[in-house]
Amino acid sequence: MLIKGGYAGKILRVDLSTDKVKVEDLKEDFASKYVGGRGFGSIILFKELEPEIDPLDPRNLIIVTPGALTGTAAPAASRTTITFKSPLSNLHGDSASSGLFGANLKYSGYDSLIISGKASTPVYIYIEDDKVEVRDAKRLWGRTAGDTHKFLRDELNIPDLSTLTIGQAGEKLVRYASVITDGGAGVHARCGVGAVFGSKNLKAIAARGHRDLHLADPDMFRKTFQEYLNVIAVDPYVPPAKKYGTPRFIYHRAKFGIHGAENWQFGAYEWSGVDPELLRSDYSIKAASCPNCPIMCRREFAIRSGRFSGTVSKMEWESIARAITCGVTDAEAIIYQTRLANMYGIDAESVGDTIAFAMECYQKGLLTPQDTGGLELKFKDPDVMIELTRRIALREGIGDLLAEGTLRAAAKIGKGAERFAMQIKGVEMSAGDPRGMPVRAVSYATGTRGADHLRSNPYIEEIATPQEAKEWFGSEEASDIKSGVKGKGRLVKWSEDFVTIGDLLGLCKFAYYRSATFEYLRRKGIEIATRLYNSVTGLNISGEDMMRAGERVFNVEKAFNTREGASRKDDTIPARFFEEPLLGGGPSGGAVVDRDKFQTILDEYYESRGWDVSTGLPRLGRLRELGLEEVAMDLSKRISLKD
Ligand code: SF4
Repeated sequence: MLIKGGYAGKILRVDLSTDKVKVEDLKEDFASKYVGGRGFGSIILFKELEPEIDPLDPRNLIIVTPGALTGTAAPAASRTTITFKSPLSNLHGDSASSGLFGANLKYSGYDSLIISGKASTPVYIYIEDDKVEVRDAKRLWGRTAGDTHKFLRDELNIPDLSTLTIGQAGEKLVRYASVITDGGAGVHARCGVGAVFGSKNLKAIAARGHRDLHLADPDMFRKTFQEYLNVIAVDPYVPPAKKYGTPRFIYHRAKFGIHGAENWQFGAYEWSGVDPELLRSDYSIKAASCPNCPIMCRREFAIRSGRFSGTVSKMEWESIARAITCGVTDAEAIIYQTRLANMYGIDAESVGDTIAFAMECYQKGLLTPQDTGGLELKFKDPDVMIELTRRIALREGIGDLLAEGTLRAAAKIGKGAERFAMQIKGVEMSAGDPRGMPVRAVSYATGTRGADHLRSNPYIEEIATPQEAKEWFGSEEASDIKSGVKGKGRLVKWSEDFVTIGDLLGLCKFAYYRSATFEYLRRKGIEIATRLYNSVTGLNISGEDMMRAGERVFNVEKAFNTREGASRKDDTIPARFFEEPLLGGGPSGGAVVDRDKFQTILDEYYESRGWDVSTGLPRLGRLRELGLEEVAMDLSKRISLKD
């Protein structure tokens, strides 16, 4: 027995078609190879889901897996990943959230929950230690995600009940519906996981566990915990995080002129209405924390007067950024819309991008008042943004079309609307405009779950010195933000493997995978993270082993997407970024992503991954080197791949 702690030791399966519950042992070699969280989810999805199955078919799987450190007292380690085939991309999908659900699943005795099939009527799954039941949820159907949490907590009379719930958007199969953790403490936002819940008639999962998790080496755990505190005490990244929460990233977008305003046409934009200082002074009422996080960057905002008076909502910068994508910078309207998104259970990024897409289609005459039920879809109009959020969540009128996401809606609208669908692999854009920072273009393009700023860490180019860039990525150019090319592909590859570690262990990306220096970043994200894992499990793996686990899992996801038909042609970005100079002036005004540079960086990226540069597909030999013999064998039976 090599693993002496940290894992609960069992995998739980629930088949909603038959109500059958099955418990299996967690195998040690499986646990140490895939670590946990996204690692367990990606390999289980690859092995157990046949290709070409519709994501809303009962055969799709929902795999809920806490990170390997989730449930321990490790700082900022409360994240749980849900893995599934995405209804937006038809490819690998996963979505993570902080909160107490993963800990309760582990305290009940399970390292992963695999849900298959479809219930004939609405149900929820109740888990309390050995008691696992599929229960009627007809009375919950139609409720918001938050109400469902409160209802279950009150009905079951368990004040500390932990839940995953969907709102009306998930019930109505909005392709970017989310799953809400603990009534609003966190959101599994991306890739449409809420629609997969809805497709199975699964309204909620409730868990409360009572077992202890054993720590293999408490002394080493305590020392490493202290080491983490020592690093964040001196890392200049932390004070602004504590002061403003994630809305501080608005300053970063303004600094580089990469707001993505008005459906990603404008880089520089008037943003004083969402100045983080204003949000802090006029609306922030509470600094909150995810479990065990000393950084405390979560913020709750309240509106005390006016037409949205009484609205209280947690809000992250993504909601603000995508409101700017609609041209809206009215803080109160954004706080209100964020509350709506969390009630209905809908991804704030995809919904913002989709509304902005509709606004541009309307501006260009591709959608008319007949299509919109008389609603004038104008950029900058907060009321339109709010009303469309509601209509999309409930699939009312034009909302029914937009609930399909930008790619499918554009195909239905026709007339060239695809040009305004700002998505990658079917998943709407996130974060900032890549025209001001070209390495981001490649990092968005190569993400295994579509457009994604959390799948890699291109920000390294901002913090690495030229010497560090040379040492780690082979060229000083990798730290040149505007014009560097050499080393950028290696930087993207390295950073993808690096941030995957966080998803294996359940660590917050903001707490471990953002920093003011490259040295602090590596210390937190690799060294401390690995030592925490070793102290909890009793294993003795190196930082290199941990990076390799990250690479292995990234390759499993790539293999899943390859099996579904994705290749180099899909690793790209919307044409607008290549062809239309960024409007609005400012630091990145007039910039486009240079196609040749993009392809050169992409070539280097594939090369550093050991994949086939011409097709962008994995090579069988590299998969085997990573210990993925079964994955290589499965692919080789279906597709012709180079060795
Ligand atoms: S850094 Fe912020 S988002 Fe991350 S765990 Fe801490 S409070 Fe939560």
